[in-house]
Amino acid sequence: MIRPTSGGGGAARPDAIRRHNLALILGHVHRDGYLTRAELTARLGVSRSTVGALVADLIQLGLVEESVPSGGDRVGRPSHVVGPREHGPYVVAVDVDVTHVTSAAVAIGGRVLSRFTVPTGPDPGSPEHVADLVVSAVDELGRLVGRRGVAVGVSVPGTVDKHTRTVGVAPNLGWQEARLGDLLTERLGGELPVAVGNDADLAMLAELSRGNIRGCRDAVYLIGRAGVGAGVLVNGQPVTGRDGRAGEVGHNVVTADGPSCHCGKRGCLETMIGDLALLRLAGREVEATEQNVAALFDDARAGDDTVLAAVREVAGWLGQALGNLVNTLNPQRIVLGGSLSGVLELARADVEHALEQYAFDPGHPVELMLSQLGPDSALMGAAELAFADLLEDPFVGQVTSA
Ligand SMILES: [Zn+2]
Repeated sequence: MIRPTSGGGGAARPDAIRRHNLALILGHVHRDGYLTRAELTARLGVSRSTVGALVADLIQLGLVEESVPSGGDRVGRPSHVVGPREHGPYVVAVDVDVTHVTSAAVAIGGRVLSRFTVPTGPDPGSPEHVADLVVSAVDELGRLVGRRGVAVGVSVPGTVDKHTRTVGVAPNLGWQEARLGDLLTERLGGELPVAVGNDADLAMLAELSRGNIRGCRDAVYLIGRAGVGAGVLVNGQPVTGRDGRAGEVGHNVVTADGPSCHCGKRGCLETMIGDLALLRLAGREVEATEQNVAALFDDARAGDDTVLAAVREVAGWLGQALGNLVNTLNPQRIVLGGSLSGVLELARADVEHALEQYAFDPGHPVELMLSQLGPDSALMGAAELAFADLLEDPFVGQVTSA
């Protein structure tokens, strides 16, 4: 809902409406990068002078800047474009996975200013240890970028209660009721706002903002790493459940006598389609790192029959899982991330065949797509989470970065 504001000139402007429209402009620039004033005027449905006043406010807040694009071959007066400010605020995004912790400084517009990955072996350790890693990352990125971040967003492979910022269950980390948000706030001395989210939920958020879920109202992002989980969008809203445990489809039991799962049960979906399943089926007894999984896919592309058979077996289980998701949620689109995007790329026909077999209405269309942000989906989603308050109210940034 776009609400018009007066374009200045002395009339009192209701603060909430002005902030709402500032947030809308910042949101457009954040998701789309550089936009002309004319484009912003059309998108907001307000007058050109109103957009001018709002852009001036955002420039004053240090969030956007205006420039004249060079090298264009357009005839006539060059149009100013509004884009994210080059040296504007950035957030610290952290992706905690089973084998590594990746941290990045991400600016408005999603530009990564600096990043690094710390390999953590087969297990990143206790919540306290991970909190220490995140605090080190905040400091290190501050040094690398030359200024401090304004907020922290952390993605974890576990259920997260967004209100308490507690990780309820993270089977592959061995965490239960880990108060990660509080640990981080304590360690950072309350200096920065900290938000925590589930990796699949955040990956979905990132693809919704700047990836392959853009414009969808009903979609699923299924992530496959050491664990498997779903980020679910229903009627334009993320589905988290009562306390963040929705979307844990990786722990739906699909074969009662299957391999044992870190959650304590047997035959969970993730034991059949997660990274470890791929490696096990391909006969590789190696750690489930991104590199080892990438090497497996390289061999499949090169025609290694054993590996291809493993990928096709996983594709069958994946198609079945997608059929169940389609029956439950009726999504327009399902985006596959992590190693599942490799499975779809190499064995789409097997995935689709199984999906047709298990879908209640086999002919009904659902779009299967690869993740646009690739391995960075959860990381970029953590950035989106950290930016949420600023995008909701651009004045928050002024307070935080002052
Ligand atoms: Zn399980």
